[in-house]
Amino acid sequence: MEDLYQPEQVRLWHWVEARARKILEGAGFQELRTPVIEEAGLFERSVGEHTDIVEKEMYTLEDRNGKRLALRPEGTASVVRAFVEHFTSHNVSEGRFYYQGPMYRYERPQKGRFRQFYQIGVENFGSNHPLVDAELIALGHQFFKEVGLEDQVELQINSLGSSACREKYRNALQEFLRTVQQDFSPETRERIQHNPLRVLDSKEEAVQNHLQKAPSILDFLSTEAREHFAEVQWGLKELEVPFVINTRIVRGLDYYENSVFEWKAARLGAQNAVAAGGRYNHLVKDLGGPDVPGVGFALGMERVVSLIPPERLGRDPTPRVYLMGLDSQANRELFFQLRELREAGAQVYLDVEGTSLKSKMRRAAKWEADWAIISGPEERGKGMVMFRNMKESTQEEIPADEILSRLLSKFPTKTFLL
Ligand code: ATP
Ligand code: MG
Repeated sequence: MEDLYQPEQVRLWHWVEARARKILEGAGFQELRTPVIEEAGLFERSVGEHTDIVEKEMYTLEDRNGKRLALRPEGTASVVRAFVEHFTSHNVSEGRFYYQGPMYRYERPQKGRFRQFYQIGVENFGSNHPLVDAELIALGHQFFKEVGLEDQVELQINSLGSSACREKYRNALQEFLRTVQQDFSPETRERIQHNPLRVLDSKEEAVQNHLQKAPSILDFLSTEAREHFAEVQWGLKELEVPFVINTRIVRGLDYYENSVFEWKAARLGAQNAVAAGGRYNHLVKDLGGPDVPGVGFALGMERVVSLIPPERLGRDPTPRVYLMGLDSQANRELFFQLRELREAGAQVYLDVEGTSLKSKMRRAAKWEADWAIISGPEERGKGMVMFRNMKESTQEEIPADEILSRLLSKFPTKTFLL
């Protein structure tokens, strides 16, 4: 788990979150903030009992009443639960939601893999239309474009078909894998028994070699599933969203069917998935809601942010004003200025510590102040202050009651924070 503490990093996170929010709200999605703790059963029933997430990675705990709880390992199950609780009635069963926040998985720590990590995710309930899949994917594409990562990520899509198609494929794949399993690790052999689809995204070299000859899911799709997949592709082409088909994408969660997709960034090495999602048509009903289909995806904030150079944003454009009084009377007079300057939209720092002018100047420079207002006994006698341009190292005396108007005339027209 990580602390986020470097100012440029924090600023980058705010910026990325703001870009995502703008795009999603512009497409009619509303934010849902759900608790980070849920009943453990919610994830067992949705993500699936035989998945890595539930079997090995979930942080579970008992509360004082003996209720089994879990720190959420992903967002979709919580959003579905909240949707069913607050947004469904006999005649309403659709909605567009997004969420952002921390997720928890007890994984082996590696580069790009954390035990607390942040996701931004979207879910669309109430439509099985393939163009909705394409629309959601296009929103993801727009996001990567707006944060300047269009050329760094590759969109890969696949179809798992309906649960009937998947069942047939599962059997065929299992049969194939059993013929070559002597070359695999015990964990993979175990997976072949319980979750053979998961073998497809194994990182073992022997597995990847044998998979060249494995049957492809696309040969097991029903006519309906094939048409759905074709329409998704049509939609993506229509919206000029580049993609490749990767028949190895199955996703680690049980609830997906038809469309599944991932964005990968080669630059990230082994942990290269930056966003992923798919369609889930039975999840809402399985979790006690109406029989409505859904589709969604989530992106991993740490991985996305790590791809953006910190200097991408530079410092925030809000003017910074450093107030320094050289004696206690001066501090009191400057204290009076704080509110007005802040309300005018500046970032203001009042340095009241009884240190020398030199050390105050050093602190002002460190804070990257644009302007400094210096007030000492000499100026005060004349009703003046020193108005200093920190960047140009120039200064002039101005009347104390003109500080605000002077600054306002220097501020760029639009100076507010994001
Ligand atoms: P991976 O293949 O990397 O394990 P996943 O399939 O488990 O990913 P999802 O559950 O689909 O991932 O989550 C969506 C996104 O969240 C991923 O594409 C990734 O960017 C991010 N993510 C998932 N697990 C972690 C983690 N432990 N640390 C950081 N980011 C993560
Ligand atoms: Mg994972």
